[in-house]
Amino acid sequence: MSYANIDFHCHSNCSDGALSPAKVVQRAAANGATALALTDHDTLLGQRQARDTAQLLGLRYVTGVEISTQFLGISIHIVGLGIDIENVALNTQLKNLAKQRKARALQMARSLEKVGIEGSFSGAMALAQNPELVSRTHFARYLVQSGACASVSEVFANYLTEGKPGYAPAQWVTVGEAVSWILAAGGVAVLAHPGRYRLSAEQLRELVALFKTAGGRAIEVISGSQRASDTPRIIELAEQFDLAASQGSDFHSEGESRFDVGKAPPLPLDCKLKRVWALL
Ligand code: AMP
Ligand code: MN
Ligand code: MN
Ligand code: MN
Repeated sequence: MSYANIDFHCHSNCSDGALSPAKVVQRAAANGATALALTDHDTLLGQRQARDTAQLLGLRYVTGVEISTQFLGISIHIVGLGIDIENVALNTQLKNLAKQRKARALQMARSLEKVGIEGSFSGAMALAQNPELVSRTHFARYLVQSGACASVSEVFANYLTEGKPGYAPAQWVTVGEAVSWILAAGGVAVLAHPGRYRLSAEQLRELVALFKTAGGRAIEVISGSQRASDTPRIIELAEQFDLAASQGSDFHSEGESRFDVGKAPPLPLDCKLKRVWALL
């Protein structure tokens, strides 16, 4: 087993990915991954299946989760790697966090009805394998299926985001809370896809400082949810705050994600940052 081809960020149908945890791991192995973390949103449901499948295939497995938080009113994602999946507090906190999803989904559906889009609550619920984890992604897929939009990214550009039809605010936890849960469960906290957030350079520095103070130790330098052109400034941020580098595809499903699982490019060869796997 080695850490030659690492993917520490991807999703299964336990959250808003399209494949089962076993299928994600099989696909990662077929794509040449040698180490993997399944990082579903706000749930540990897929961890055992992913770990067991990885073990069968000789893939190094690292437990993972991606926690929804908020900062300056926007959604910020914190990945936890190497967490104890039996940790009672973490399991309870994640269940509480996910609880609001169904109520938010009803609000989203009501908002979509106002612009003539019917049936999106039952449509999204039907697409969510895990009824506790209905996500905006399930709504986006429903809007594509029903012909309202041509692609998931078109849905997010026109619906489901602040100021657009179908948006309903969520009450996520603070960055500090999510980091503290991860630390208490023995994991390493990683700031996910920093290039994706709509923050000014100053606000992003403020976020990274807060994350570091809370005990965060790594940042995603390579992610399917940010552009390659973001890489240099993220490396610079990591250097400034002494954070290790992590990487992942953020794979959700074929055709929806920038990179397939196990197919994200590696960190630049000249990147001097400590690697997150050295902390696990
Ligand atoms: P939720 O946790 O229900 O708020 O949904 C957030 C999920 O929506 C993210 O994890 C992404 O998978 C997806 N998402 C958010 N913004 C976009 C976007 N612009 N394009 C495609 N998917 C997006
Ligand atoms: Mn997602
Ligand atoms: Mn994310
Ligand atoms: Mn993700």
